[in-house]
Amino acid sequence: MSESFTAMMITDAGEHRTEAAFRPLTREELPDLPVLVEISHSTVNYKDGLALTGKGRIARRLPMVAGIDLAGTVVESASDAWAPGDEVILNGWGLSETEWGSYTKYQRVKPDWLLRRPEAFSAEQAMAIGTAGYTAALCVDALLGWGAIAAEGPDVLVTGAAGGVGSVAVALLAALGYPVAASTGREETQDYLSRLGARSFVARADLSEPGKPLQEERWSGAVDVVGSHTLANVLAQTCYGGAVTACGLAGGADLPATVMPHILRGVALLGVDSVMAPQDKRAAAWDLLARHLDKGLLSEMYTVHPMSDLPDLARDILAGRIRGRVVVEIG
Ligand code: NDP
Repeated sequence: MSESFTAMMITDAGEHRTEAAFRPLTREELPDLPVLVEISHSTVNYKDGLALTGKGRIARRLPMVAGIDLAGTVVESASDAWAPGDEVILNGWGLSETEWGSYTKYQRVKPDWLLRRPEAFSAEQAMAIGTAGYTAALCVDALLGWGAIAAEGPDVLVTGAAGGVGSVAVALLAALGYPVAASTGREETQDYLSRLGARSFVARADLSEPGKPLQEERWSGAVDVVGSHTLANVLAQTCYGGAVTACGLAGGADLPATVMPHILRGVALLGVDSVMAPQDKRAAAWDLLARHLDKGLLSEMYTVHPMSDLPDLARDILAGRIRGRVVVEIG
């Protein structure tokens, strides 16, 4: 039996409840998949918070190793695509849902799930970006593809701006030269968001109450992570021909909206999924980040934590107490 290592596992606690706890694992217990990766870093996304606290039913089979993101080094590969020593990253692909995840020193994965870690980023920086940051890049890429945002304005709005997706979206849009308005419920984060490139602010409360189906046209486009009334109001305030990306539900999974912005102003609602996104979209998003995300700003966006902090970090992200991103050192 090989040496054991620590993994954060979700198990069945009975009465339809799950429990997250550190458990010893050996390599022999890992799934029978072609590529063995030694994981150096992971992170905590909103979905990880839901999985670890049991507030969302993320794991669809148990026991489950939690964690949706990894950066590490290939140790063994039965696939020609990868060789020992390759530096890789993995975002999503059902990790922590149907496939064992990243809060463990070693994990076996499918070759198709891996991307070569961009040279621009260390393993720590790649996880500072993580699924949240790569999703922000998918959203920005979608807005660029739609073609309605412009350097001369109107502003592009980012909701939940001080969170993980929001912080990276603000920094990326500003770096690309677009005027960014940041919506946050935490006034104390305005200096931070200004440093990332936001030039104006909208209070979270101004968007979270039910509003009229059509409102004053303010945004050329928007990245929304909140959903519910916030997304409905953002759609109602988007300019003729603009687009809004929807990737999150931090404020609710409902969408109490009308078709008016779509049928009278041609506003588009662009859905963004990071988990099963095809490799070409992932590569485009990571390329956007590698070319435009300022490393100095990235270093302001995250803190580094040991694996033992995972339970606290999970509670903090669901309570909206985390500014930007966190990196978790594995081992
Ligand atoms: P974070 O918790 O880091 O950020 C969410 C932010 O939303 C908070 O920081 C806060 O920003 C704001 N917020 C929190 N609660 C509320 C509320 N009740 N009403 C309005 N605003 C609120 O999470 P992430 O950035 O990691 O993820 C954001 C969302 O995107 C989540 O819902 C997540 O599930 C989703 N997501 C979806 C993905 C996909 O593939 N579709 C991938 C990644 C994330 P502030 O304090 O500035 O107001």
